[in-house]
Amino acid sequence: MKSKNLRLGIAALFASAPLLMFGVSSSAMAVETAPHFCYDDALECGPSNWGNLADEWKVCATGQNQSPINISRTKESERLSEIRFNWKSTPLKIKNNGHTLQVNYEPGSSIRVNGETYQLLQFHFHSPSEHSVGGNQSPMEVHMVHVSDSGVLAVVGVMLDAGEASHTLEEIIANAPAEGGEVTIADKYVNASSFLPREREYWNYSGSLTTPPCSEGVRWHVLTHRTTVTHDQADEFVHMFHGGNARPVQPLNDRKVLRSDD
Ligand SMILES: [Zn+2]
Repeated sequence: MKSKNLRLGIAALFASAPLLMFGVSSSAMAVETAPHFCYDDALECGPSNWGNLADEWKVCATGQNQSPINISRTKESERLSEIRFNWKSTPLKIKNNGHTLQVNYEPGSSIRVNGETYQLLQFHFHSPSEHSVGGNQSPMEVHMVHVSDSGVLAVVGVMLDAGEASHTLEEIIANAPAEGGEVTIADKYVNASSFLPREREYWNYSGSLTTPPCSEGVRWHVLTHRTTVTHDQADEFVHMFHGGNARPVQPLNDRKVLRSDD
C-alpha cells in the first residue's frame, strides 16, 4: 500500500506541477514562487541561464548528467532488455503549461524494461527535437514520462521525422487549450502507442529532466527508429510555443550511451 500511495502522490504532483516534481517539500509554495523559464537564449529566462533563476534549479547549470544529448558514439549491450509496452487508450486530457502540450494519462498503463516496471504518467512534445542523432535534429520529439514504485523516472523518447501526418497529434493540436489551461475532450481517446515505430530498439543513458529543475537520475530510452508528423504539424506546434521548446544538447561527460541489440 505504501508504494501505491507514493506512486499516486507522484502522479498527482506530475499532473498539477509537472516541472516541479523533485526535491520540493511544498509543491504549492513552489508553484507560486517558480520563476519563468523560456527557450530564447537572448533573454534572461533562456536555457543557458536556467541554473541561475532559482536555487532549486542550480543543477541545470552544475549537473554532469544532463539531457538532452547528441547521440553519436554508442555501444551495443546485450544486458539491455527489450521494452515491453503496456499502454492503453486514455481519455484525451490536454494541458498547456506554457512550455508544451501534455496529455495526462489515466493510471493503468506501463512499460517493463530491464527488470523494472514504470507507470505512464503523461506524454508531451518538443519541436524541434531535443535529442539529436549524429548532430541532426528531427522536426519534433515526443516524450512518454513514466515513474517506478520507488519514484525513479523513465522516459521513452521518439523522434518524429517529416512525413505522414500523425492523427493523434492532429487531435491534440485541434483541441489544445490556451496557455495555462487544461481540457478533457468528451468521448475522445488517444493512445501513446500511435507514436511508436514497429521496431523498438533503443539507446539508453542516464540523464535528466530537460526542463527546470533539470533533476538527474532519469533513465532515458530514445528509440532508434522513428515515426512521422507533417511539416505543417511541426510548424503549428512551434508557433504555439513562440519559436520552439527544445533545450540545447548538453555535454555527455563521462556517460556512455548503450544500444539495445536487435
Ligand atoms: Zn520532454
